[in-house]
Amino acid sequence: MSFEDYRGVWVYIEVKEGQVAPVSLELLGAGRRLADKRRTELAGVVIGEGVKPLAETVFAYGADTLYVYDDPIYKHYRTEPYMKALLACTQKYKPEIILYGATSTGKDLASAVATDLPTGLTADSTMLDVEEDTGLLLASRPAFGGNIMATILCKKYRPQMATVRPKVMKALFPEPGRTGTLVEESIPLQEEEVRTKVLEIVRETARRVRIDEADIVVAGGKGMGGPAGFQLIHKLAEVLGAAVGASRDVVEAGWIGHHHQVGQTGVTVTPKIYFAVGISGAIQHIVGMQNSGLIIAINKDPNAAIFQNCHYGIVGDAFEILPLLIEEYTTA
Ligand code: FAD
Repeated sequence: MSFEDYRGVWVYIEVKEGQVAPVSLELLGAGRRLADKRRTELAGVVIGEGVKPLAETVFAYGADTLYVYDDPIYKHYRTEPYMKALLACTQKYKPEIILYGATSTGKDLASAVATDLPTGLTADSTMLDVEEDTGLLLASRPAFGGNIMATILCKKYRPQMATVRPKVMKALFPEPGRTGTLVEESIPLQEEEVRTKVLEIVRETARRVRIDEADIVVAGGKGMGGPAGFQLIHKLAEVLGAAVGASRDVVEAGWIGHHHQVGQTGVTVTPKIYFAVGISGAIQHIVGMQNSGLIIAINKDPNAAIFQNCHYGIVGDAFEILPLLIEEYTTA
């Protein structure tokens, strides 16, 4: 394999309800930085039905080129057709680096592409850099329980690939009207050849604020005592129009589902306000919320580590403080 043939930084553009997913905009920001350092181009690859108009957004957020696979066969995400399209594009144009959001789609697609190419894949990266001269991607992620940052290198294969956690990279300020090169691509693929079929899409009907998109997150820890005590977290979240977060110990105790877990093995959140109630402040929790705009911690132990990682700290019993806050915001 000659590395000389591989050029450019690519971002897989994920589409969510007809729009470019926020994580892909973040990755275009990160990708632009890598591409500039390598003095190469930044490209996006978008796959879907009716996705060509997204080029405007992709160029505005920093891409020079967009490869488009626009066909009804890509209407819903399915591993097989998406993987075949991306694989064909990769083999044709030979990018040096491909970045994907560490979302359920990104993780599924990246691992399928990596297996078929074959190449390596660094999963769940939180830091990215590139060696200017060699083009070696330096993708880092927390390891050993968050005690070290491991930088994972792919020295033998190209392209180098990484999935990157949502909310850790910064999107560029969009430049409306910025243009780029649109390349329309297709592969010969018939519906009969695809083994998976989407029979029905069942949408969640309950009105729930998504934790990774919420402006306010109220997170509770083991200090809430049990599922009954944890209801106070739900109540405060409800009156504030906030999403509910939790520490891993709470999730493992079964007080709430895993998709509410904040931290290294949960989600990374960056709300405007983050309440950490009865949470001790273990590093594995902190890495998932430390970039929140305003962190308010409530803990009865004045020496709790969470107080080293908050803007406002209230030392006291959550069972006395939360009812006061709930009452205050209910009547506000
Ligand atoms: P505790 O550490 O038990 O803290 C409870 C806190 O509540 C204490 O500080 C106590 O003072 C306070 N408290 C008690 N009663 C009250 C009261 N009445 N009022 C106010 N405060 C009170 N953790 C995560 O959260 N997210 C992760 O993604 C994650 N990933 C991990 C990955 C690995 C590989 C490992 C090893 C661990 C991971 N953990 C994660 C677990 C983490 O190390 C901690 O064990 C966990 O975060 C502790 O949860 P907690 O703060 O709810 O509980």
